[in-house]
Amino acid sequence: MLFIGCHLSSAKGFAAMAEDALKINANTFQFFTRNPRGSRAKAIDPKDVAAFLSMSREQGMGVFVAHAPYTLNACSKEEHTREFALQTMADDLARMEYLPGNLYNFHPGCHVGQGAQAGIEMIAELLNKILKPEQQTTVLLETMAGKGTEVGGTFEELRQIIDRVELKDKVGVCLDTCHIHDAGYDIVHNLNGVIEGFDRVVGLGRLKAIHLNDSLNPCGSHKDRHAKIGEGHIGLEALANVINHPKLQGRPVCLETPNDLSGYAHEIALLRGCFHGEA
Ligand code: FE
Ligand code: FE
Ligand code: ZN
Repeated sequence: MLFIGCHLSSAKGFAAMAEDALKINANTFQFFTRNPRGSRAKAIDPKDVAAFLSMSREQGMGVFVAHAPYTLNACSKEEHTREFALQTMADDLARMEYLPGNLYNFHPGCHVGQGAQAGIEMIAELLNKILKPEQQTTVLLETMAGKGTEVGGTFEELRQIIDRVELKDKVGVCLDTCHIHDAGYDIVHNLNGVIEGFDRVVGLGRLKAIHLNDSLNPCGSHKDRHAKIGEGHIGLEALANVINHPKLQGRPVCLETPNDLSGYAHEIALLRGCFHGEA
């Protein structure tokens, strides 16, 4: 079973996102919990949530991925910036409890010259403050391209963060194909080796979601510019190998490619056509 979808606008609520997803033959989706500036999130509408949950159940949709604003920085030099990340994420997680069992992805952060080690400590500290034993959401660290001072551009850095988290069963990883390729993991020529490395360092049990994107730049470029599927340096064949890899099955696959809804519909059809397993 392939759970595939794309990034959608959350402006009209959860039921509207499920409708959009179903329209383009998607059975999962991703959305930003609020705008990138991290302004107030829309209040939860119980009617919208109920409509979404029944639609999702009836249509056999998989778990979805909520994405934190990418402007948050859990390892900023400024205490008020770290505190803002903490408050925003804690608030997002409280609202996620209305939709139990889904995923909340965030960019670990930028250490802005303090060094990766200091960044790792601060990110883990933030997670130790916001994770609750009773929460029903898994929080995901996204693999990063290693652009600028980004933390999480290597599997080892993600592992070091997880090692410092107390409630380890609440954390996982979201693997972004554009990001790891830009970080220097050659998924075009050595997908098996990259997956083995991930398993050895992080553990495939922690892998909860995949962002499927092509990249405008070559492997190791540390750029993070997404391309449409098949129009970048990764290419359709390598991306098809990702969705077909036996060790990567069962995770929601979300496209974050530069597309409108009809462009996403085309890419989803293309990738479903490349999938060897049961549709
Ligand atoms: Fe992201
Ligand atoms: Fe991503
Ligand atoms: Zn990206």
